[in-house]
Amino acid sequence: MQRILVTGGAGFIGSHLCERLLVEGNEVICLDNLFTGSKASISPFLGNRNFEFIRHDVINPIYLEVDQIYNLACPASPVHYQYNPIKTIKTSVMGAINTLGMAKRVKARILQASTSEVYGDPEIHPQKEEYWGRVNPIGIRSCYDEGKRAAECLMMDYHRQNSVDIKIARIFNTYGPRMAVNDGRVVSNFIVQALSKKDITIFGDGSQTRSFCYIDDLIDGLIRLMNSPAGVTGPINIGNPHEFTIMQLARIIIDLTKSPSQIVFRPLPQDDPVQRRPDITLAKKELEWKPKIELEEGLRNTVAYFSGILQNNQ
Ligand code: NAD
Ligand code: UDP
Repeated sequence: MQRILVTGGAGFIGSHLCERLLVEGNEVICLDNLFTGSKASISPFLGNRNFEFIRHDVINPIYLEVDQIYNLACPASPVHYQYNPIKTIKTSVMGAINTLGMAKRVKARILQASTSEVYGDPEIHPQKEEYWGRVNPIGIRSCYDEGKRAAECLMMDYHRQNSVDIKIARIFNTYGPRMAVNDGRVVSNFIVQALSKKDITIFGDGSQTRSFCYIDDLIDGLIRLMNSPAGVTGPINIGNPHEFTIMQLARIIIDLTKSPSQIVFRPLPQDDPVQRRPDITLAKKELEWKPKIELEEGLRNTVAYFSGILQNNQ
């Protein structure tokens, strides 16, 4: 049994991670300021004596004795990270400093939830870990992209300077049950719109691509990375390499939900990456990991989840 801290544990990925870590018999401390996370997503674990929730903001230091830290705290949807961009970059940078300081002090292993956004709007396709990326340092996505890049830098510097045992996961677009109805990211937006018989809002012409990873596959990859040999620090891409245009995604969701919704087009936000697909050669080699759940199967589960939520809200 390990004592494990999950910052951002009340969010979409965090709540699934807490659940899996509890099932595997660990003690889990979930730390979250509930900016985009919710008590509802962790309420099933509150009765578990191996689970604790701490309402806390990672920009402030905290002292805990733990064996492992998953640092997930940061809003991830463009709508949410652009709501208060200064807070977003502070969360990534100061959150990394505070959790790395804790890892250094108590000799815990720490995994940083980084992102495919460190590649920006990439010229290299698919994206390999050696690629340094093409990020606009002064645009509306910079608070998130540059914050995550600075967090990777801090991870590597604490590792080189203080021998902190680090892992960096570059997570590509992940979806699944427990995304918030108002999350704002494409999969939940399209499903909620389709189920509510509202227009499906495609930004731009829908030719931009993303590669969607189902939550269970991602959690498996994160836990494998955390428990990999100390020499494996990453960064390692974790995502599903099967690439779709946003138009294809809209059509698949309309088919699966048998929705009468119409597709409408809205302006493409600034710096929206044109294409994105992970090269997962490294994850296959170092972690013996690859995703198992393809888009249609994952979407069916996600549609079933949102159907239940929307019916309960009526
Ligand atoms: P999410 O918004 O559902 O979860 C983020 C959680 O962090 C929320 O519970 C939120 O309340 C909490 N949080 C935000 N700021 C905080 C702060 N200052 N102090 C404490 N808690 C704070 O998003 P998610 O999709 O679960 O993403 C989790 C992590 O994974 C994020 O770091 C994100 O950047 C990363 N990531 C996610 C994806 C994806 O597709 N889901 C892709 C790449 C990277
Ligand atoms: N998108 C869209 N309609 C929406 C939400 C998003 O067309 O209602 C597009 C968005 O412009 C982007 C892609 O879907 O090209 C993925 O967006 P998301 O916000 O999910 O994540 P990103 O990968 O851009 O961070």
